[in-house]
Amino acid sequence: MRILVVEDEPHLLRSLAKALREEGYAVDTAAAGDDGLFKAESYDYDAIVLDVMLPGMDGWQLLERLRRRKPTPVLMLTARDAPRDRVRGLDTGADDYLVKPFDLSELLARIRALIRRGAGKPWPRIEIRDIVIDVKSRTVTRAGQPVWLTAREYAILEYLAYHRGEVVTRTALYEHLMDESDDTLSNLVDVHVFGIRKKLGADLIATRRGHGYCIEI
Ligand code: CA
Repeated sequence: MRILVVEDEPHLLRSLAKALREEGYAVDTAAAGDDGLFKAESYDYDAIVLDVMLPGMDGWQLLERLRRRKPTPVLMLTARDAPRDRVRGLDTGADDYLVKPFDLSELLARIRALIRRGAGKPWPRIEIRDIVIDVKSRTVTRAGQPVWLTAREYAILEYLAYHRGEVVTRTALYEHLMDESDDTLSNLVDVHVFGIRKKLGADLIATRRGHGYCIEI
């Protein structure tokens, strides 16, 4: 899953990006509203963390312009817990908001919930035959036995599971699982899919030649 963080306080931006990467997300960052809007319109992020108070275009304006074109889930970071701010955020199309200063574990939980809702999967467990994916702990079991996946393998499996029944192209996987700081050569999707099949069964992920991958329903 790929997340955009728009925040002008350098220390907070860095620590948010670090914490999200440690959770296995691909993370892009923007320190100003116009750069944030450009990235939000250029890529299909799975969620956006958006600070309200930004230099130049603020978070409200960014959200308003983004909503004309895209439904990307947005979590707003507001500085004050004024009811007017909350109402404005929800009216403008924010999916959730958090008041600063916030607890990091709460931010991560809200992002997981946003991504689940965005994918139409409100529950934190995905079951595919005897395979259970727990998106909260990022663990996988097969027939009740834990299966160890690399961070990349897990990210690909989770993305395909969220889009079960759809063919997911390699391009979509690259876009959702790698961020602007990634070295693409070390991230060959096919190699990771091979790894997942070895651990969870060759027939879990079907290859659609010329199109991509699919976990069938
Ligand atoms: Ca700010």
